[in-house]
Amino acid sequence: MLFKDIPGNKKIKKELISSVDNKRISHAQLFLGGEGSAKLALAISYAQFLNCENRGQTDSCDICASCLKYKKLAHPDLFFVFPVLKTTIKTPVSDNFIFEFRKFIKNNYYTSLDEWIDSFGKQNKTGQKGKIYKDEADNIHKKIRLKNYEAKYRVILIWMPEKMETRTSNKLLKLLEEPPVGTIFILVSENTDKLLATILSRVQIVKVHDFTEADILSYFSDEKLEVDMLRQLKNLTKSNLGRISQLINQEASNVDLFEQYSAWVRQCYKLDIQEISKTTDEISRKGRNFQQLFLSYAIKMIRECLIYNFSDKDLLKTTKKEESFLVNFSPFIHEKNSVLIVERLEESIQSINRNANAKILFFELSLQMMKLLKVKRKFAVK
Ligand SMILES: [Zn+2]
Repeated sequence: MLFKDIPGNKKIKKELISSVDNKRISHAQLFLGGEGSAKLALAISYAQFLNCENRGQTDSCDICASCLKYKKLAHPDLFFVFPVLKTTIKTPVSDNFIFEFRKFIKNNYYTSLDEWIDSFGKQNKTGQKGKIYKDEADNIHKKIRLKNYEAKYRVILIWMPEKMETRTSNKLLKLLEEPPVGTIFILVSENTDKLLATILSRVQIVKVHDFTEADILSYFSDEKLEVDMLRQLKNLTKSNLGRISQLINQEASNVDLFEQYSAWVRQCYKLDIQEISKTTDEISRKGRNFQQLFLSYAIKMIRECLIYNFSDKDLLKTTKKEESFLVNFSPFIHEKNSVLIVERLEESIQSINRNANAKILFFELSLQMMKLLKVKRKFAVK
């Protein structure tokens, strides 16, 4: 991972680079940031930069032996520690899942703990949330007794240290305080409230801010996505780049949101319960990512209607198909119902985040939509 692959975060990158250049490298650091921020990506690019054999002024070289191994996240002196589940292994440690974890991270450097736990799928029969068990601490001690294979700086990267059992934390305290020469601990956390004070007092904190709108737009600049859609996704996900990438990669490319959405709105308008029931079944089968994208799209279309009705049509960000749909649909969206509709749609997105039953949710939403589309305007149209 190179610094340049991570959007924004200029100030932190600069500070990290100059700390390496000035040899002020703290042996225990904690990268702290919200879900979907750059914290893990920055931690990995920092570790790569530390070990790059041909460091540039602003980034790793990307081609030396160390960089090539870092690219695969498979450098022998880079250890990942992360929450795991008890599946077939009674006393699991990260090494048992390292291949899956590397693949998981490489797929999305801004991903979340929930996604990682979800990736266990049916293996997680009891709804475990993941922990870093005490055996992990023993494993780290064992590894640290050996010399570094080849790197100047061996990096032990602990992702989500807040998931450490107290026993794990306690067993690591001394190591965090005084690791062997050439070993650096990098903790990557979302919540320091859940960390023992004794851990916190031993690490230097690197605060990572949420991505800005400009960061998110620049990240997707090659993909010809609608700026408006990205803005909405940014707001809806609270700047969570991991979530936005996931939504876009998995769904937008192979889904015609317009067809689904326009059909649904027509059914609501015609009060066609039978068809609505079919549509809600279909949507509920498609999974959370699609559902959120669908709802974000619905919000976008309501806003476009308002622009169409009340503002300069040059401001519309619509395709030809969408615009011809607006001609018929926009008279039904106005000052009396638009805010309510958008509120319902936004609430639905939040409910999906909280794992609501999608079938019930979309059915109820459709009923509300039917009612709201029939709300009469107070004033006649000009
Ligand atoms: Zn290099």
